[in-house]
Amino acid sequence: MSLEKNTDLTYQRARQALVDEISSKGISDLRVLDAFLKTPRHLFVDGAFSSRAYQDMSLPIGYHQTISQPFIVARMVELILKGNIFDKTPLGTVLEIGTGCGYQTAVLSKFCRKVFSVERISPLAERAKKNLKSAGVKNYLIRCSDGSLGWPTYKKFDAIICSAVSRNIPDSLIKQLEVSGKLICPVGNEKNQNLVLVEKKENNKITKKVLDSVLFVPLLTGIVEDEKL
Ligand code: SAH
Repeated sequence: MSLEKNTDLTYQRARQALVDEISSKGISDLRVLDAFLKTPRHLFVDGAFSSRAYQDMSLPIGYHQTISQPFIVARMVELILKGNIFDKTPLGTVLEIGTGCGYQTAVLSKFCRKVFSVERISPLAERAKKNLKSAGVKNYLIRCSDGSLGWPTYKKFDAIICSAVSRNIPDSLIKQLEVSGKLICPVGNEKNQNLVLVEKKENNKITKKVLDSVLFVPLLTGIVEDEKL
């Protein structure tokens, strides 16, 4: 067996162990567990951390940002899929705020026609594109802009996931949510944060549910072009 194949097998086993772990922590949607089994997280973490790529923890990706903890990514994806019974590509378009290294984009790409992802730090947006290319993901668009303003040229999304915390859910995101769509966003301050699930009903009324306590980096305004931060 070649070394490369051996490594692939090692990664596959590590992914299975990660899936077992997030399943034991409460992720039960088989579609989500399968997506984690098939998403090569080692391609999205920095080389220095590759030995920890399949541990259920967030890791630094530079620019004072992190790749999210797998359990949290799984939880958010499970929440936007809940009640959706289709097996394949259950969603049309999904908006992601905070691309980071692109890992969650890769997971989301398995459930929708296209992921629209916004990152405010230009070098991270570029790195995410490279990572997604090496993972073979094609159905996404990444834009470097301030995601608290949403994706200005696209009207409505079937689901929206925000990966950075704010004191209030930005209005522009709620406006871009399709009727019957789900939006998940961490809300709070540096110390106390909870995931909030927003659902838009037929009459355009929204409901909000406060869920798990979490820890995300802040949603900041403006964009960063500079390579050196
Ligand atoms: N989705 C990532 C998580 C990245 S961490 C993953 O798969 O692991 C959150 C990201 O949100 C950071 O890269 C940060 O730069 C970005 N971010 C913060 N505020 C933002 C904003 N207003 N618009 C777009 N991205 C933002």
